[in-house]
Amino acid sequence: MKKLLEDKPWAVVQTIRSIIATPASAKLRRSQYKAFSRQVPLLYVLLVVNTAAVVFTHFRVAPRWLAVYLPLALCAACAGRIVLWLRARKAEPPDEVIAQRLRNTLRLTALFGAAFTVWGLLLFPYGDAYAQCHVVFYMSITVIGCIFCLMHMRAAALLMTCIVVAPFAVFFLMSQHAVLIAISINMVLVSAVMIVILLIYYRDFANLVESQRKLLIKQAETERLSMENLRLANLDGLTGLPNRRRFFSDLDKLLVTASATRTGMAVGVLDLDGFKPINDLYGHHFGDRLLEEVGRRLASLSSPGLIAARVGGDEFGLLFGGDVSQARLRELGAAICATLQRPYELTDVTARLTASLGIAVFPEAGTTAVELSERADYALSFAKNHRRGATAIFSREHETQIRRCNEIEQALKLADFEREISVFFQPIFDISSKGIVAFEALARWTSPSLGTIPPVDFLAAAEKTDMIHSMTHVLLRKALEAAATWPPQMRIAFNLSARDVSSPEAIDGVIRTALASGVAPERINFEVTETALIKNVSSACETLGALKKLGAEISLDDFGTGYSSLSYVHRLPIDKLKVDRSFIADIVDDAAARAVVKSIVDLCRNLGLTCVVEGVETASQVSVLRGLGCTVMQGYFFGKPVAGADVLQSFVMNGSVTARSAAASTL
Ligand code: C2E
Ligand code: CA
Ligand code: CA
Repeated sequence: MKKLLEDKPWAVVQTIRSIIATPASAKLRRSQYKAFSRQVPLLYVLLVVNTAAVVFTHFRVAPRWLAVYLPLALCAACAGRIVLWLRARKAEPPDEVIAQRLRNTLRLTALFGAAFTVWGLLLFPYGDAYAQCHVVFYMSITVIGCIFCLMHMRAAALLMTCIVVAPFAVFFLMSQHAVLIAISINMVLVSAVMIVILLIYYRDFANLVESQRKLLIKQAETERLSMENLRLANLDGLTGLPNRRRFFSDLDKLLVTASATRTGMAVGVLDLDGFKPINDLYGHHFGDRLLEEVGRRLASLSSPGLIAARVGGDEFGLLFGGDVSQARLRELGAAICATLQRPYELTDVTARLTASLGIAVFPEAGTTAVELSERADYALSFAKNHRRGATAIFSREHETQIRRCNEIEQALKLADFEREISVFFQPIFDISSKGIVAFEALARWTSPSLGTIPPVDFLAAAEKTDMIHSMTHVLLRKALEAAATWPPQMRIAFNLSARDVSSPEAIDGVIRTALASGVAPERINFEVTETALIKNVSSACETLGALKKLGAEISLDDFGTGYSSLSYVHRLPIDKLKVDRSFIADIVDDAAARAVVKSIVDLCRNLGLTCVVEGVETASQVSVLRGLGCTVMQGYFFGKPVAGADVLQSFVMNGSVTARSAAASTL
């Protein structure tokens, strides 16, 4: 209690100090200054005019120095202040200047308040009762006016009230004149009410300024957040590159500019070859880090004329501006592919992959975003099919191909598979036993509208949809129907599509068809390509396991054309490797091709697999291959694919060997 009492005077002093002091907030000081600077010239005008009126009523009755010279000096000072304030009206002074001016205002308020009060009190005794009343009226009305004008500066208004009203009240209370005492009481009361109103007004004013300040901060924060959101909504979280949405909005903008200014632009679609198997093999975390590195490399190549964005899993979009001549695009494309082809050294694993790029140039390849990106996609699939790891610029040739593909797709939708699709058979020859050991079933389609279509074309079209499954079903049934009529030791090789391999339902269908055919499953050899397997190694193993369980054999087809072939062969439940014919074409002259085939033959020997070479066309190829240790061969040299009926004929004519294979047996 004692302590509280001891503390109280100090608390009162503190409160008074805080009321009188200029506010700590620069924002509040500035607002005060702005409001106040509009009113302060009025204050001085009020002082000058009211003082002039008093001078008028007193200059005859009071001494000259008091009635004229002193007020004249005071009014001159006021006029000086008016000029200064009017001049400073438009300026936006810095915070320190404002603080200084507010402090000056406080000092001047004390000075002027005291000076005018002393003047009024000195003048009071002169003149008649009217003149005295005028002084009283002058002082009271002027102080009220001044308090109003100083409303935004609490300290100044309070100071003014104290300096003027206190001496005024004391002076008149002591006069012992009833009217003057009443007036001074009125004056004190009015001043007290005004002080209360002023404090409330000032508090509201300060609150308003503070809430305005907070609102501005909030607004700035909201703006910053919405800018940040906009930035994030347009960025790919993993690579930091622009995302799909941003890519297409930039593409639209670039198209508008290119159309308006007739400048060049091109759209690129880039796809990582072999990303999926790397992702499957090393896990998604590794895949993410690899994509981040791809993003970094693309970002390092970006310039105002080349924007890179991530538009899908391992797909990136590119926008080319400025010079889009074929030469520059090829140069840029080569630089991009080369950059992405560099090894990816990520902690303890070094991954290698290539990137294929398809480009469509405006306006030759298309004039809309959809057309251009679709054609860039076509060019990309052309690159992927023909020149993996390289750039293809969309051309009419691609367009013709695309049109042809569309025609095939349409005709295939209307096709009657049962009637239009047939199976041809190509012999697979074993030079050690000098006989045909199997026939590979090869699909043929003669469309009533388009004529004979190469299998790669119609199979690619069928593989785009689930149509491939019904096609596989018809082909397998027809192939096994034919095989059922062959001698029991003759095996049949049947190609499964990548889509078949990745669909458990399709494989169930294959197994049912095989069982229903009456052909012993041990005679059936299913051929699958590397691409079918590496899409998902573990699910492919399951599928192949089901076929093996049936009793059938599995061959890995087109071996050597895929990616990291050797690294996972031992993990697959396969019986044979079929060496792709691209290695055989030059085997006689090309030592490198011979070395590849030799290593595959050795691999097969080590893993206990049968090695089959495809595409054998000449006797010299046969003798080279025999030298490398190959015994099982297939190719035009041993026999071209023939219709089912001709296969039977070859058995009738030559027992189990064809005329061609008989020739080979003499080698
Ligand atoms: P593939 O499985 O590698 O089949 C061998 C292809 O090489 C056949 O082409 C065959 O005619 C051809 N060929 C055989 N010997 C030689 C030769 O000495 N020289 C040359 N240059 N070529 C030779 P085809 O019949 O055009 O089949 C192409 C591809 O279509 C096949 O390649 C296979 O991947 C696919 N395919 C064929 N029939 C079917 C099928 O019934 N189902 C599935 N899913 N794919 C099939
Ligand atoms: Ca095959
Ligand atoms: Ca093949």
